[in-house]
Amino acid sequence: MNHEIQELMELDKKHFLHPTSPVQQQQQDGPGFIFTKGEGVFLEDIQGRRVIDGMSSLWNVNIGHGREEMGEVAKEQMSTLAFSSCFATYSNEPAIRLAAKLAEVAPGHLSATFFTSGGSESNDTAYKLARHYWILKGQPEKKKIVTRTKSYHGVAMGATSATGLKPFRDFTNSLAPDFHYVDHFSPDALREFIETEGADSIAAFVAEPVQGAGGVHIAPETYFKEVRAICDQYDILFITDEVITGFGRTGTYFGIEHYGVVPDMMCFAKGVTSGYAQLGGVMISDQVHQAFKDHSTGTLLHGYTYSGHATACRVALKNLEIIEREQLIDNAKEMGEELLAGFQKLQSKHNLIGEVRALGLMGAVEIVKDQQTNERFATPLAPLVVTEAAKRGLVLRSVVFDGQDTLVFAPPLTINKEEIEQMMTILSETFSAIVPSEK
Ligand code: PLP
Repeated sequence: MNHEIQELMELDKKHFLHPTSPVQQQQQDGPGFIFTKGEGVFLEDIQGRRVIDGMSSLWNVNIGHGREEMGEVAKEQMSTLAFSSCFATYSNEPAIRLAAKLAEVAPGHLSATFFTSGGSESNDTAYKLARHYWILKGQPEKKKIVTRTKSYHGVAMGATSATGLKPFRDFTNSLAPDFHYVDHFSPDALREFIETEGADSIAAFVAEPVQGAGGVHIAPETYFKEVRAICDQYDILFITDEVITGFGRTGTYFGIEHYGVVPDMMCFAKGVTSGYAQLGGVMISDQVHQAFKDHSTGTLLHGYTYSGHATACRVALKNLEIIEREQLIDNAKEMGEELLAGFQKLQSKHNLIGEVRALGLMGAVEIVKDQQTNERFATPLAPLVVTEAAKRGLVLRSVVFDGQDTLVFAPPLTINKEEIEQMMTILSETFSAIVPSEK
């Protein structure tokens, strides 16, 4: 390892507190990769190691890495107007055009957008807007937010409190009040909760169309129709968190489209810019917007410095243009089928693989000790698979919350058949290396 790399490793250990990372491992080994370049589905690190980005980094680089035209629009926008405030009704053209574009592509009557810088801010914003809506409607006691077990909504205080995955909540010892959790796949659990607590105390129900960080859990076909009906019956706002599932990831523009219902509010981030700039937002329905228009006599006292950031919005517009021009949503659907077929083939070859699932390019592979009984290993094996796959050129992620032993996948929507085959070859070699007696 040359001197420059060594120096960067030492500086990283000393000065860089990494997000969602094992601290002692970083202190011992330094950063896992120092990436320097990206091209399509590939990333390259400072040592010249080339890997497939099997997670689109953090489920977000939907259009793939290394797009020069993204850099060009960012440069153009930064050279003219990098940023200006959107407080006090001030505006800028990219933010206006992006809000209009989102209204065009979003389902149903979701037609106005509040911009943020990412998914956590979007979730906190949605909870506050939902509660504000009920204040305006003269029902300020409607403030509880109901979320689901195995959900992940981010790390801001509201988003952490809404997250069903307990380890994220246990990281801190004081959470925001009025967040409650119900079983992730049971509409009855939601109904029971509402009947026990009283609908007049509940502001909103929040759900990811496909649970991502919790292990890629795909809801039963009728789940969201039932949930929508329950929310309507009890006058509770239905919020979807499309931070991962938005912008083509599951083979439709937004994940909730698979279920044929429309939420009252929709959080988004990640794929809106494919990670080329930091941006998120919340879309609200005409009905919610109308309440703000009719009843708000004061100022909407919620806003981030970077709400409506001109450069980020311009980058998002170009990103959406690329997604549409290259028909990446159709590709996600087709390649999602290839991905699932690849998993099934692996399953017939390796005894360690249990259930496999995918919706578009969001997939998961369960690791089991026994394919027949679904028995699990006492210590999850998925983290070892991730380490070994990375050595062989494939970056993945493991999910071990709640006794799970799961590998999750979310490659860029640009992926082709050969690249999926390459992923499967690396996975197969990885499994064979871990259990040499495998078929
Ligand atoms: N919501 C969901 C469904 C997510 O998956 C994430 C991040 O992975 C977030 C919210 C938080 O987004 P961010 O990390 O941009 O704050």
